[in-house]
Amino acid sequence: MPEGDALHRAARRLQPLVGECVEVETPNPRGAARRLAERLDGRRLLSVRAVGKNLLLEFEGGYVLHSHLRMNGRWTLATREGTSPGPVPSRPALRGQPWLVLRGSRVEARQWNGPVLELHSRSIRRLGPDILDAPPDLDAMLVNLRRTDQGREVGDAFLDQRLVAGIGNKWKAEVLWQARLSPWRRLGRTTDEELRAALEAAATLMRRSLDGLPHRNDVYRRVGRTCPRCGERIRSGGQGDANRIAYWCPGCQV
Ligand SMILES: [Zn+2]
Repeated sequence: MPEGDALHRAARRLQPLVGECVEVETPNPRGAARRLAERLDGRRLLSVRAVGKNLLLEFEGGYVLHSHLRMNGRWTLATREGTSPGPVPSRPALRGQPWLVLRGSRVEARQWNGPVLELHSRSIRRLGPDILDAPPDLDAMLVNLRRTDQGREVGDAFLDQRLVAGIGNKWKAEVLWQARLSPWRRLGRTTDEELRAALEAAATLMRRSLDGLPHRNDVYRRVGRTCPRCGERIRSGGQGDANRIAYWCPGCQV
């Protein structure tokens, strides 16, 4: 699943279309089944924003298109035909037909590779505060983390988008390492200061990534390698109901 920063980048990429009445097409037959073109074509695009790991495209008439990219899903932007080709997708991951095309007067955006696309307005409200908000509402996140079952593990709670929106598996691992917090620690055995420090680390690291700064992983996907801080071997294990792989250093994450 793409992380929140990838979705924020996509939202930035689509800004040139905001304010325009867009032509909407669904070239991929599987995208066409959702009848988005019929309902959205010709409507004005009012806003594009990332909320957590969701991209929300608001159209006039009260329509909100919810695009939740899967592993390989992505948005590309190209100038319209007749001008320069723009970033035409050439890598194998982007072959085939885009699922959705939004065409404005100058540019067109294409959505590739089987996203979850739906028109709605409901479940968004159930998302917690976005870690990439400027500034992020850490107090509200802390309240949410205290409101949930305190027997839950920190690593599991940090992925719960209803508590904090935007943190995915990679940033969970990196952030908890930075905060020296084990993903297996129960919420009830953490202090507010520890949780706040981890949330601050998440906001900082993910903001830097959003701004295009490189990040070298300390624990994520580094099983068996040595911890850059203490030299212990990095471990991994499935966590939570979805059994997503947690990475941590048993030496310095208590
Ligand atoms: Zn360590």
